[in-house]
Amino acid sequence: MSFMVNRVLIIGLGLIGGSLAKALKKKKFAKIVAGYDRNPDDLQQGLDLGIIDEGFSDLAEVVATADIVVLAVPVKATENVLAAIKPYLSPATVITDVGSTKANVILAAQTVFGTVPDKFIPGHPIAGSEKSGVAAADENLFAKHKIILTPLPESDESATRLIARMWQSTGAEVLQMGVERHDEVLAATSHLPHILAFSLVDTLAKEQDSREIFRYAAGGFRDFTRIAASDPTMWHDVCVANKQEILNQIDNFTDGLATLRQAIVASDSQSMLGIFTRAKSAREHFS
Ligand code: NAD
Repeated sequence: MSFMVNRVLIIGLGLIGGSLAKALKKKKFAKIVAGYDRNPDDLQQGLDLGIIDEGFSDLAEVVATADIVVLAVPVKATENVLAAIKPYLSPATVITDVGSTKANVILAAQTVFGTVPDKFIPGHPIAGSEKSGVAAADENLFAKHKIILTPLPESDESATRLIARMWQSTGAEVLQMGVERHDEVLAATSHLPHILAFSLVDTLAKEQDSREIFRYAAGGFRDFTRIAASDPTMWHDVCVANKQEILNQIDNFTDGLATLRQAIVASDSQSMLGIFTRAKSAREHFS
């Protein structure tokens, strides 16, 4: 690729930050991919694995020279990290993040800067896994996946284009969406399924003979519950950050489940088959 920025700094070298660093290095998007993590072991591992070119344990040394700063930390840490980088930011630096929720990230930026800086372009890669940590970093994690950017009306268009270009270099497809729409859609398509998987596994694990039950669990259980192995702290943060949208989706789902329960109680085959047939058809049209 002929287009190359000088230095990208990734703050938070976990699954997402590490995977982005790896992909940007492979695609030569930046001359230098630098990393910062509050955990020195993650930083050292990133250097040892060749995921980053330079590792920093002091933000003062590196923020001013970065063209792009990517926050890849848990959403709850956004405000602290923005406050920590604020004194060292150059006016030209473009900031972005990868958080699974967006309204709270924007609120964090407002709290720290007064108004959201025009060069802060919030983002969310719709890619990931139940794994976490830099050791799980995968340079192909974002290829053919969607990245949602949620710039504000006052956001700098060239900054938005730069962040879009960064993600496109990883093979991802970049979309734009309003902040509220993002949090509403993701509550339905990502947050609710994770909550259902956690809840199902926790409910079954509490049964006295749970070991016996899990022994007989087959592919369907495995497919449905893979994401219940996701990081508990990350999902706690998501539930706190996107509380109202998640509650709306839980209520919506509970209504649907109650309807299905009633059909089973009443041995109402028509209703049961209606629900299953509509769901099968909707699932088959989803690619
Ligand atoms: P992770 O636990 O693998 O990595 C987070 C990293 O951030 C860790 O290395 C941790 O040491 C570091 N960190 C935490 N607080 C910090 C701080 N204050 N300063 C510096 N470093 C700090 O988590 P992850 O899965 O990579 O998630 C990171 C972000 O990506 C989260 O905001 C999450 O919502 C978002 N996200 C995750 C997924 C997924 O599937 N895992 C998908 C899309 C978006």
